[in-house]
Amino acid sequence: MSEACQEPGAGACEVGSVDILGLRVHGVDMAGAVSRVREMLLADDRAHQVVTLNSEMAMIARHDRDLAAIINGADLVVPDGAGVVWASRVLGRPLPARVAGFDLMQELVACAAAEDWPVFLLGAAPGVAEEAAARLAARLPGLRIAGTHHGFFRDQDEQAVVARINASGARLVFVAMGAPRQDRWTAGNRGRLRPSVCIGVGGSLDVLAGRASRAPKWMGEMGFEWLYRLVREPRRFVRMLALPRFMLQVLAERFAMQRHKE
Ligand code: UDP
Repeated sequence: MSEACQEPGAGACEVGSVDILGLRVHGVDMAGAVSRVREMLLADDRAHQVVTLNSEMAMIARHDRDLAAIINGADLVVPDGAGVVWASRVLGRPLPARVAGFDLMQELVACAAAEDWPVFLLGAAPGVAEEAAARLAARLPGLRIAGTHHGFFRDQDEQAVVARINASGARLVFVAMGAPRQDRWTAGNRGRLRPSVCIGVGGSLDVLAGRASRAPKWMGEMGFEWLYRLVREPRRFVRMLALPRFMLQVLAERFAMQRHKE
């Protein structure tokens, strides 16, 4: 079992929240994030939203006030991308660690198996969530998969998807429809979902199902996961231009802060 799950809150590092280009990011490391999710489940009062923020999403939110409001209204926002952690350091308010959505999901499914929290996998192409569920169940025998659904449903089927999640009794809902679609979906349906925690996890189901691979650990640790994804999926090139644009915005803000001080 993961350490974060074995000793709730043990060794968790929290530094309050940090403003990155107008977006509130919570200063938690992995243990702290798991601990926050546990608190939300114990509160058992409503559907909670966890956003895994990367620089691409932060750039979209600069011109999309609705998305910025969704991010700032989430119960927990963790830095999914190395760019967000880098930005926090440049702006002089360092976040303790990167908390990648895929890694957070790995920790939470281990906790779910130990604590009997039923999980729902929502997203990816038809068949992928089922394959991911089968592989997770094989690895974690105590894990209760409450249900699965692909992420390519029509707007008119949205109510049926919500009803299915509610009927499943899921406590953790992994929403893997890519950012920001997954975050808009969660925000739009929070009021209709039964008490649970919805976590945006991007392409994680593709990786769990063995249809995509993650960058080697060393690349992730050095902040080069984007390069790995670019080589594997060159069609992401245009989307990835958000990263240098994000870095320039952060540097501009840093210079503005400096000028203000002088
Ligand atoms: N996806 C989905 N519904 C959609 C669009 C995308 O379920 O309407 C899925 C897609 O199949 C993939 C994931 O969302 O599994 C997006 O993965 P990506 O790596 O692009 O997301 P990111 O991690 O960059 O947010």
